[in-house]
Amino acid sequence: MNNARHIDESLMKKLFHELGLAQRVLIISHIRPDGDAVGSLLGLGLSLQDSGKDVQMVLSDGIPEIFRHLPGSEQVKKKSEGEFDMTLVVDCSDRSRAGDALNGISLPDANIDHHPTNTIFGRHNLIDKSAVATAEILGKYLPEFNFSITKQVADALLFGMITDTLGFRTNNMTPRAMRTTANLMEAGGDLPGLYQKGLLSRSFSAARYWGAGLSNLDREGKIIWATLSLKDRHEVNYPGRDDADLINFLSTIDDIDVVIVFTEQEKRQVKVSWRATPAYDVAQVAMQFGGGGHTAAAGASLQGDLEQVQSKVISDTKLILGIN
Ligand code: AMP
Ligand code: MN
Ligand code: MN
Repeated sequence: MNNARHIDESLMKKLFHELGLAQRVLIISHIRPDGDAVGSLLGLGLSLQDSGKDVQMVLSDGIPEIFRHLPGSEQVKKKSEGEFDMTLVVDCSDRSRAGDALNGISLPDANIDHHPTNTIFGRHNLIDKSAVATAEILGKYLPEFNFSITKQVADALLFGMITDTLGFRTNNMTPRAMRTTANLMEAGGDLPGLYQKGLLSRSFSAARYWGAGLSNLDREGKIIWATLSLKDRHEVNYPGRDDADLINFLSTIDDIDVVIVFTEQEKRQVKVSWRATPAYDVAQVAMQFGGGGHTAAAGASLQGDLEQVQSKVISDTKLILGIN
């Protein structure tokens, strides 16, 4: 296991020094936010507020219903207001992932992330691809630079770590991530409660949405895929635009190398998600389609008719990964 930290610690020091001097801070995370986007945003935001800063937390898509239990989630806005001394972007692999939140900001002051596909779009780029979540990076460095980890901050960061690791079971897990987890628990983080909310509980409509996807699950050799159409979403009344975590369930199927889920988001707009066993790098595949992610979990948003996107993505995935 490669446990080396890839982050530049002197750069981190510089960033926290600048943060110490800043008063008005804008924090942004990615569109279609996941648990790490929201957890990192809130954890960093609440900790900076505890040290007396004026913080605005912005998600261009707003905060999804499923994350409203998190402390500080009521503060998250879709748009920033006013001027800032510093702009920090968390868990975004490239600028466009911030959606409209970075409009008018030519160079964010910090880009804090763990995606290996990060495009280095900030003035300071703190990228640790060995971190299991952006929240892990924050959980380690906030206390090192004397920012407080209250129970609320701990809950937010712990939530990011739990969700990005699917409950500490992804193959990028490290002893170091467990140590940060333990520190967050010591600071009051509610591991079982957050685990339940982030990974286990789901709505009735999400279960029916899974049913629609499972009913068309298809396979060619060691690749499987499922599709969630707009029609499926409307029929079961699923409120989100995501796949309701269907892909993580499909990833538990035996003897499969690659899983793909196609989620039709609007007419001619399809979100594609890939998951792979360690032998394959699906971030490379997602990048070919303008997306990104991690070796084992990646995504992209494609324009086009659902069926055309499906056949193109399946054949290109096989080609790029050398699977036949
Ligand atoms: P998902 O399939 O949406 O759960 O995403 C899996 C991983 O790929 C996450 O690390 C995402 O941040 C990343 N990802 C998903 N969609 C995109 C995209 N359109 N562009 C870049 N990265 C993405
Ligand atoms: Mn994320
Ligand atoms: Mn993440």
